[in-house]
Amino acid sequence: MSFTRMLGALALFPVAALAQQALPLKHTPSPTTAAITAADLMTRLYIFADDSMMGRQTGTPGHLKATVYIEAQVRRLGLKPAGDNGGFFQNVPVAQRWMDASSTITVGGTTLAYGKDFAAGGGRGEPRPIDGAEVIFGGPQGDTANPLTAEQVRGKLVVMTAPAGGGRGGRFGAFGGRGGGAAAALAEAAGIATVVGEQLPPQLAVTGRPRPGQGMTFLGALTPAPSVAMTLSITAKAAEALLGVPVSQATKGMAGRTIKAALKMDEAPVPARNVVGILQGSDPKLKGEYVAIGAHNDHIGMRAGTPVDHDSLHLYNEARYAITGMLSRGQQPSPEQMEAVRNIHINLDSVRKLRPVRLDSISNGADDDGSGTVTVLEIAERFAKLPKAQRPKRSLLFVWHVGEENGLWGSQYVTDHPPVPRDSIVAQLNMDMVGRGEKSDLPVGGPDYLQLVGSRRLSTELGDLMETVNKAQKMPFRFDYQFDANGHPENIYCRSDHYNYARYGIPVVFATTGLHGDYHQVTDEPQYIAYDHMARVGNLMYDMAVRVADLDHRPLVDKPKPDPKGRCQQ
Ligand SMILES: [Zn+2]
Repeated sequence: MSFTRMLGALALFPVAALAQQALPLKHTPSPTTAAITAADLMTRLYIFADDSMMGRQTGTPGHLKATVYIEAQVRRLGLKPAGDNGGFFQNVPVAQRWMDASSTITVGGTTLAYGKDFAAGGGRGEPRPIDGAEVIFGGPQGDTANPLTAEQVRGKLVVMTAPAGGGRGGRFGAFGGRGGGAAAALAEAAGIATVVGEQLPPQLAVTGRPRPGQGMTFLGALTPAPSVAMTLSITAKAAEALLGVPVSQATKGMAGRTIKAALKMDEAPVPARNVVGILQGSDPKLKGEYVAIGAHNDHIGMRAGTPVDHDSLHLYNEARYAITGMLSRGQQPSPEQMEAVRNIHINLDSVRKLRPVRLDSISNGADDDGSGTVTVLEIAERFAKLPKAQRPKRSLLFVWHVGEENGLWGSQYVTDHPPVPRDSIVAQLNMDMVGRGEKSDLPVGGPDYLQLVGSRRLSTELGDLMETVNKAQKMPFRFDYQFDANGHPENIYCRSDHYNYARYGIPVVFATTGLHGDYHQVTDEPQYIAYDHMARVGNLMYDMAVRVADLDHRPLVDKPKPDPKGRCQQ
């Protein structure tokens, strides 16, 4: 994706226009209508992505509030509940996990205390036990010169120094077999302990339950999580106790002492739920088949640490995104464009004339994925308000997935535990970030811009249908398929909920208006959303759902089906 033109535009933008361009910070809701409209989307998104939702992170009160909103809407629309116990919520087993403050490591007569001499962290995978492990010195992290072999480290606790130039270890699962020979070998260790200094940094020198949204683990996988090396952060003193010599005297491959580890993990369930509803089809036979339509209801919550100046970050993000986009394509930004970045303060001064500094620490996720969530609600409303006889032949399964940001947890769970027979789902239409994609976000953007991923990866027919439906739109979209290329570095086909349907051989269409400078920032707010554009995406996906739901045969799967338990590779 390139952003050259946007920066140019930014430099040329009269400041007042820039300020005017942005919509209001707050919006007065009005009753929604049957049609999929920009006004309805605005009403819904300003509620769903409001600060009061606290960034909707899985496992937090914000997530509960957000799903209460969706549930109330689908109940009002008269969808059939398809969650647990006759309700709309499908609870997804997620827990917070943390190391108990009583945890110790004893070595050479010294007892190391958790939260003082060592710390451990979260991450993906089941950490291996390290009790009884021998210690071995692994040198600086990331140092590829004569790396230790898998045989040397298997079952051992590898003590390493921080990578040259900073950074720290200490996250579980960080060595899960990904990335390069040295890292792959280290993945065989029982544990990796990285020396982070004389003291543990403040954010690690803590014990007890982490703050909401942190340290979470998905307990709903059908297959056990892969076992990974436990990763620890340790002080220099602790390293000396483990090695038997000061770190400065240790040599790579040198054997240290054998440890006794009494590590206790505490765990507490946290709230995580999909919202699932069905709209029954009108055909007596075909209503037993389903078109699934989805988005994710969660986002990343609150920023840790000090709040930031919203307006300057937004202006900086827009300019930075353009430049980084160009550089990633090996293009050199023009002097004017660089000047524009340097002149952000000029734009900021004018914004200051309009409003005071707004400190912000909430990642509102208006586009990610508030846009998908409210667009799917609008699609459900348009279908629900159709006279019964005019409803499509097949039924529609609406799912607002939780835990997408954590690793597609909600969609993994609902496809492993579907509310309807899995093979009765004939296709899935997924929307994640469908609220931007204008020229101000990316040079290829515009009111008719839409990226499609996966639409022909299992069913050529489904992808063709999408083109046919698009051609019939009042303003057909320009589909950008570049992110659907095999081996694409962004790997978007594997990065959102549609993949959990595709892994079971269900053909999918993933629609998105793409990345932008406010992605995963506190600046992803409702006033920067392109509502007309989003309404057009909603109507396109509505028409596609009708087309598939009324088809006289289910879309033909003419491509090989992946292994549902395998690793996704685009
Ligand atoms: Zn998302």
